Amino acid sequence: MAVPKRKTSPSKRNMRRSHHALVPAAFQECPNCGELKQPHHLCNACGHYNGREVIAENQA
Ligand SMILES: [Zn+2]
Repeated sequence: MAVPKRKTSPSKRNMRRSHHALVPAAFQECPNCGELKQPHHLCNACGHYNGREVIAENQA
């Protein structure tokens, strides 16, 4: 089995991980109800997407 010859140094390990940071999620106001929602996502508050109701607000 192929095995690394040397232990990865902390510097090289940290350089590899330099791209691993999490980015904060984007939010914008829902044009229907004004709640914050993620772009290209259904609004969790009113169930609207792209100007129409996709999920009924009061489901039995
Ligand atoms: Zn909404």
